[in-house]
Amino acid sequence: PVFDTLSDRLTSVLQNLRGKGKLSDADIDATAREIRIALLEADVALPVVREFIKHVKERAKGAEVSEALNPAQQVIKIVNEELVGILGGETRRVNLAKNPPTVIMLAGLQGSGKTTLAGKLATWLKQQGHAPMLVACDLQRPNAVTQLQVVGERAGVTTFAPQPGNGVGDPVDVAKRSIEEARHAQHDVVVVDTAGRLGVDEELMQQAADIRDAVQPDETLFVVDAMIGQDAVTTAEAFRDGVGFTGVVLTKLDGDARGGAALSVRQVTGEPILFASNGEKLEDFDVFHPDRMASRILGMGDMLTLIEQAEQAFDQEKAEQAASKLGTGDMTLEDFLEQMQAVRKMGPIGNLLGMLPGAGQMKDQLSQVDDSQIDRLQAIIRGMTPAERENPKIINASRRQRIANGSGVAVREVNDLVNRFYEARKMMQQMAGRFGFGGGGGSAT
Ligand code: GDP
Repeated sequence: PVFDTLSDRLTSVLQNLRGKGKLSDADIDATAREIRIALLEADVALPVVREFIKHVKERAKGAEVSEALNPAQQVIKIVNEELVGILGGETRRVNLAKNPPTVIMLAGLQGSGKTTLAGKLATWLKQQGHAPMLVACDLQRPNAVTQLQVVGERAGVTTFAPQPGNGVGDPVDVAKRSIEEARHAQHDVVVVDTAGRLGVDEELMQQAADIRDAVQPDETLFVVDAMIGQDAVTTAEAFRDGVGFTGVVLTKLDGDARGGAALSVRQVTGEPILFASNGEKLEDFDVFHPDRMASRILGMGDMLTLIEQAEQAFDQEKAEQAASKLGTGDMTLEDFLEQMQAVRKMGPIGNLLGMLPGAGQMKDQLSQVDDSQIDRLQAIIRGMTPAERENPKIINASRRQRIANGSGVAVREVNDLVNRFYEARKMMQQMAGRFGFGGGGGSAT
């Protein structure tokens, strides 16, 4: 697919950050430089690249530090969010008219995939419970009407077209009549296919503008072939100025070209991407989700999910307290329990190993712990007095017996827990030294 090369490049740039404890400004600059090259090579428009890199640098160097994430993850998160940003942020749904029919007009160069898209849209609209109708307003190309009819048949929808033998016909007139017909035949969405030329030209723009004025579309979709490179941006600007549009459809995302220009269209025109086409079949089509596309481009769907979960589960304030305590060896059993609960909130423990700083060391420890064990540990700690949780040293043999009885476990398990706690505390102290948190002002970067 179109973004494969970009995806490979970005993934490897970001992977190089893994395992770094702290990123210097020089590290960030170097990473930003590589991301810049990757984007430019993928044909993303220069102003878009500049803006992107500027944001990534500022944010990565700035105070935007999340205690839940290690430095590499923070950069990945920032790059991801910026990518989602240039792709439009929130998913933009198609606007439906309060008084049907909703009119969707398609505009774009010849060969961009408008006719194919009309069929895909019709299929999708039907699945959404609508009764769409296609309208053939491309009366210039000899085969265009027939082609739309064929597409309509395949999609199982009506196609409105001028009667054959009536001369060339006036596309504006066809468009107007189609709306009446849609009302009459109770079609609630009308998809108007318009003529495209091989290049941008005045007459084409005027015709599209006339059709637009005649049918007052609820959406005008600019259809753009993701494989045409930098021309995508200039064409988009020409259509924006000549006809105006409310949304973009990217086609041929299954192609193997660089495709980055298509990523620039949103930023350059300010209009959102609504749909994406990735093949010649009717079902090769989807609503465009900026967040999903960004994570596909980063090739890190799982990592991004983990980052999200880690952040949600993480209580910043407690983390800071814990971090400063851990480093000085002041961790109590209460902290220990909280840590385990936080880890547990993040989901199956197995998934988490890779994202913990110092995961290598923790791996063996953590892989022995499962959720039911955490329940048991929790029960044991709950069976202790506050003084015991605060200062485990006082837990002598008779206290152990009492705790075991109270929480319904064997004394051996209480011993295990206490030993494990001491080990964990030692490990935390070592890690704290290695990552530079704790001890000092409690900043956990
Ligand atoms: P129009 O001139 O804008 O109406 O473009 P068409 O719908 O006729 O499409 C031009 C060519 O691109 C046709 O051969 C289509 O089969 C092909 N096409 C359209 N959309 C896609 C797509 O998403 N992927 C691929 N691979 N081909 C597509």
